[in-house]
Amino acid sequence: MRRYDPAIDSEGATMDMNRKTLKGIGQFIDPYRVTNSRFRLRDIDPGATGGLKDERKPEAQQRVADGVAWLAEEQEKLYAQDRRSLLLVFQAMDAAGKDGTIKHVMSGVNPQGCQVTSFKVPSDEELDHDWMWRAWRALPERGRIGIFNRSYYEEVLVVRVHETILAGQKLPKEVVTKRIFKERLRDIAQFEDYLARNGTTVLKFFLHVSRKEQKKRFIERLDEPDKNWKFSIGDVKERAHWDSYMSAYEDAIRATATRAAPWFVVPADNKWFMRLVVVAAIVEAMEKMKLAYPKVTDAQKADLARAREMLLTERK
Ligand code: ATP
Ligand code: MG
Repeated sequence: MRRYDPAIDSEGATMDMNRKTLKGIGQFIDPYRVTNSRFRLRDIDPGATGGLKDERKPEAQQRVADGVAWLAEEQEKLYAQDRRSLLLVFQAMDAAGKDGTIKHVMSGVNPQGCQVTSFKVPSDEELDHDWMWRAWRALPERGRIGIFNRSYYEEVLVVRVHETILAGQKLPKEVVTKRIFKERLRDIAQFEDYLARNGTTVLKFFLHVSRKEQKKRFIERLDEPDKNWKFSIGDVKERAHWDSYMSAYEDAIRATATRAAPWFVVPADNKWFMRLVVVAAIVEAMEKMKLAYPKVTDAQKADLARAREMLLTERK
């Protein structure tokens, strides 16, 4: 791990990096940030590239690289400070690029400061608890970045689209009413509010791929032997429920988007642009935290001087 050098941090290199990374990032985030219930999915075009033409792609990729380097630096401060945490929730239809985005965005971050959890079909043990239980257990510790690859939102997405799943959740009859998904959405909103009030910043990303682009990517997975492993017949069956998923997503976003826990509905048909928006949103959120290395007190400085003295005067 790179050693912290206060001389570099207070001026010079880091300041330049800040300016370069933060310059104009708002233009890539603002159109996709949702903070209240006035949101319509059809207003976001999955093919959007923020007005950037294909020839600007290398420039966008450079910005992503700068952002990733900046995040690595900030994450060390987050860790050293040990006060806040960051929870990044990724939701998407299959083949939208969740895994690749997570890999890319976190590529520079110290693995010790970052925890990725993938939420699959609940296990028997998980079904023996309330639905939020497994998410609670996976929340990032102070000083850490937690990444949810799928999340508790599945409870108002896949479970809503396939109500037979609900029947398998071992719930007492009287709590399974018509209002159950509305109630779950309210629980999620309150849960995220609670997290925010306890020092966890929650950012939620919906990587919004079009149905047409998904088809193209599935066919690529079938045609390229190296990508075959990513393919599952179930994914194609889920496509049939596309409209139900989209309306479940729209509902979930409307019910849970707040200033404290915003959604980012990210156009995902062009991966280079999707990554730019995701990195920009994380950079912006971490910038707002005003992270800094803890200041060394006079008493600590005296301790450090004493330790130095002890080491230098050691007999052997
Ligand atoms: P990839 O396919 O890219 O490896 P993935 O996230 O799609 O990643 P899978 O193992 O294919 O991983 O799928 C996980 C499945 O688990 C998804 O279909 C998801 O909807 C389902 N799932 C997640 N949470 C729940 C839940 N609470 N109840 C029922 N199904 C769930
Ligand atoms: Mg899958």
